[in-house]
Amino acid sequence: MEYDWDAIIIGGGPAGSTVARYAAQGGAKVLVIDSRKEIGTPLQCGELVPTNQELKRLCPDVPDIDDLFQRTDEIVSKRTSKMGLVTPSGKKLIYPFEGEILYRPLHDQHLVKMAKSSGAEYVTKAKVDDVIDNTVLLRNGVKYRGKIIVGCGGPKDPLRKKFWNEKSLNINVTFVLMEGDFEDQVDLYFGSTAPGGYAWMIPKKGGANIGIGVQKRFTKGKNLQTLSKEFFSKFEGNITYKGAGVLPMSGTINQFTKNNYMLVGDSAGMVLPSNGAGITTAIIGGRIAGQTIAENIKNEKALDNYQKEWNLQMGKVMKYSKRGIQWGGIMFRSPDILVNAAFNPLTKPIIWRAVTCKPMFGIY
Ligand SMILES: Cc1cc2nc3c(=O)[nH]c(=O)nc-3n(C[C@H](O)[C@H](O)[C@H](O)COP(=O)(O)OP(=O)(O)OC[C@H]3O[C@@H](n4cnc5c(N)ncnc54)[C@H](O)[C@@H]3O)c2cc1C
Repeated sequence: MEYDWDAIIIGGGPAGSTVARYAAQGGAKVLVIDSRKEIGTPLQCGELVPTNQELKRLCPDVPDIDDLFQRTDEIVSKRTSKMGLVTPSGKKLIYPFEGEILYRPLHDQHLVKMAKSSGAEYVTKAKVDDVIDNTVLLRNGVKYRGKIIVGCGGPKDPLRKKFWNEKSLNINVTFVLMEGDFEDQVDLYFGSTAPGGYAWMIPKKGGANIGIGVQKRFTKGKNLQTLSKEFFSKFEGNITYKGAGVLPMSGTINQFTKNNYMLVGDSAGMVLPSNGAGITTAIIGGRIAGQTIAENIKNEKALDNYQKEWNLQMGKVMKYSKRGIQWGGIMFRSPDILVNAAFNPLTKPIIWRAVTCKPMFGIY
C-alpha cells in the first residue's frame, strides 16, 4: 500500500509537536495538521510547569528529561520556588516547588520549531473533519493518506470522537491575565472556591494568570461565570486577557492505540487529575509515541508498545494522581469548616503527596 506520509498527526500542540519531533528524528515522514493559524494562539492555559529538576523528582521513571524539555529563557516569564494550597477560608499550606511560568504561545511555537528541525512538515489553518481508514479529510476538501494516524487534537480530538467510545470527565475552565503586583508564589485553591475542581493564581512577570475550573454537579446552582467573578474579585489588577478551555480530569483512557490509530496528550486523558498538569505529560507521552512510530516504520514494532512504555514511565504517577483526586474529591465536598480543619500541620505532607501524585501514606 502506498502512503503520502508515514504518520499524519492531528494537532500540533505539545503532544502533536513532540510526537512529530521524535518520529521524524527516527526517520519517519511526518505531517502535522492544525486548525489554528498560529499554533499556541489563542492562549488557553495557566502556563505553569515544573522545572526539569522538579520533574525528575515528580516523575523518577522518565528518562532523559533534559533532552526532552529544552526551554529557552525567552519562553519563561517567571520562575518560582513555592506553592501554596489554599482552603476556602484562606488558610494556606506552603510547600517548596520549583516551577516555571511560561509564555505558552511562545513555548508551543518552540516545540513546532524543534519538530520542524527534525524534519516534520506542518499544514496550519487546516481543520480535520474526518478520518476514513488511512485517509484524513480536511474541511477544505484536501485529503492526505498516512500509514499511521495520530490524534493529538486535545479533549475534542476528531479521531478520539469517532473511534473511541470511552468517556472522559472534562471540566470547563476560565481564566484571565491580570496586570499588577502578585505574591511570588503559585497558589492553588480548593474546596467551595472551585467546587469539584480547582482555582489558581500563577504569578507572571508584571502580573498573574488567574483561573478556575469546576464540575457543574457540585456547584449547587452557581454557574462558572458567577464563581469565576467571585474568585477574580479577590485580586487587584487590570484584566488584559480572558480565556477559557476544557480540562480532562479523569486520567488516561484504557486503550491508547487501535490498529494504525494512536491518541496522545489530552485526547488520551494524560492530564494529571490531582493537579491539572497536562503540558509535561503530553510531551512525555509524545516522545514515547514518536519513538514507537519510528520503530514501527523501520522494523514493524507494534504500536501498542507505546502504551506499555507509558505505563513503565508514568503508570505509577497517573495511578497515584487518580487516587489523590478521589480522596480530595471526598474531602473537598465536605463543608468548608471540615476542609479548613483538615488542612493542618499533621495532614500537610499527606495532602502534598496526593497533589504531587505520590502514595498518600508513603507506601508504594
Ligand atoms: C484553561 C486551562 C489551563 C491549563 N493550565 C495548565 C497549566 O498551568 N499547566 C499544565 O501543565 N497544563 C495546563 N492545562 C492543560 C494543558 O493545556 C493541556 O494538557 C495541554 O495543552 C495538552 O496538550 P495537547 O497537545 O494534548 O493538546 P492542545 O494543547 O489542546 O493541542 C491540540 C491542538 O490540536 C488542534 N486541533 C484540535 N482539533 C483539531 C482538528 N479537528 N483539526 C486540526 N487541528 C485540531 C488545536 O488547534 C491545537 O493546536 C490547562 C488547560 C486549560 C484548558
